[in-house]
Amino acid sequence: MPTLLIKHAHLVIMDDHQREIPEGGLFIRDGFIEQVGPTSELPTTADEILDLSGYIVLPGLINIHHHFYQTLTRAIPAAQNSNLFNWLKTLYPIWARMTPDDIFISTQLALSELALSGCTTASDHLYLFPNGSRLDDEIAAAREIGVRIQASRGSMSLGESKGGLPPDSVVDPEDKILKDSQRLIQQYHDASPGAMVQIVLAPCSPFSVTGELMRESAKLAREYGVHLHTHLAETEDEEAFCLQKFGHRPVGYMQAIDWVGEDVWFAHAVYVNEAEVKIFAKHGCGVAHCPTSNMRLASGIAPIREFLAMGVKVGLGVDGSASNDGSHMLGEVRQAMLLARLKEGITGFSLTRPSPASLPISTGNGEGMGVGLMTARDALRLATRGGAAVLGRTDIGSLEPGKCADFIAINLNRLDYAGALHDPLAAVVFCQSVRADYTVVGGRFVVKDGSLVNSEIGKLIEKHNKAAKRLVEG
Ligand SMILES: [Zn+2]
Repeated sequence: MPTLLIKHAHLVIMDDHQREIPEGGLFIRDGFIEQVGPTSELPTTADEILDLSGYIVLPGLINIHHHFYQTLTRAIPAAQNSNLFNWLKTLYPIWARMTPDDIFISTQLALSELALSGCTTASDHLYLFPNGSRLDDEIAAAREIGVRIQASRGSMSLGESKGGLPPDSVVDPEDKILKDSQRLIQQYHDASPGAMVQIVLAPCSPFSVTGELMRESAKLAREYGVHLHTHLAETEDEEAFCLQKFGHRPVGYMQAIDWVGEDVWFAHAVYVNEAEVKIFAKHGCGVAHCPTSNMRLASGIAPIREFLAMGVKVGLGVDGSASNDGSHMLGEVRQAMLLARLKEGITGFSLTRPSPASLPISTGNGEGMGVGLMTARDALRLATRGGAAVLGRTDIGSLEPGKCADFIAINLNRLDYAGALHDPLAAVVFCQSVRADYTVVGGRFVVKDGSLVNSEIGKLIEKHNKAAKRLVEG
């Protein structure tokens, strides 16, 4: 069993005690963490030893909402300045031209970008399968890169002719969707600790699938113990659609079709009222907060502090690359912190009263100022422990014995952090978002010395740009 020793790093454990060890390290055996602590207390020999003096080591970041394929359609001129529904209507016909090769290339590109930004687990939501594309294309591509994935078998079945938003050309028959969902669970879902691939069932959104498909997907997922995911309460347009078509607000609609529970997480959840936050808390639903996408599409600001105050599980997602238009996980942590502060400044929610003692967020350095502004530690916690909780994974999210050896290391001696080294953790969140120097998944290097180990990035960019050009030009 191969062993790996990390020593002399500024180690952020992200455990329940907010421990940080200035001269810390990890001893890893066979992909899992065996010991964590001061370097002086760890074994002195291993198959591989990495001295990370001058580096900060953090748990790998967990991205819980993405659409990898959208890296092919970033910054499309006609979709640059639109809100969600107009943006989707512009892009659906372009996406309808995708091939299995496009899914493969875009997955490799997105995961390369994510790995370089500190991400070790990514949840992708693929919801259209044109020209013979399959979720298998994504899974095969991810296996080569080496990042853990929660591959969501998305779906769209409610085309324009039936009152849905997408054109009929990109929706599929429901029996075909359910059959393929079952096949994928049977073929790929791994429920064991350290799983590199898990399957999730993910009908796309209230305005692109029927309630019947949502119900049947939930039944199937629960039969196999896999998680459920969808977009919800992203925009006011969606809320109006749900009220008109289903007679419910989005969250009420989810309750009506049995889409609440510990096994369900929703992307966005911007337009939720206090009673709906309580419903999430009561049933254990999780939220994927996507701050950059919500700003890019002018959707709104999700009530993250209210979710946390009520005990709702919250993680972070970069969302699809056509509404971000990047896949930088550390950047998303920074955006989450800044956007939460802006919301608090606008609403006065926490500027007028101290944060409640019961908030499941940190009390790290720099707190105690009597206001409830989201801290760097809070934001980082969302992207690690928060994401793991939403995905229902107890094997990732912190650097503790028994957990997967998923971590990142960043050299602190750089221009971006000059003058910020009195608090290394705050430096990586407050200062300009940089790339990881090391990204390790299950004890294996995906990024080493700042370079991807399993991907020839120059060739990949060339192929990806060719595919994007073909796709957009039609
Ligand atoms: Zn999305």
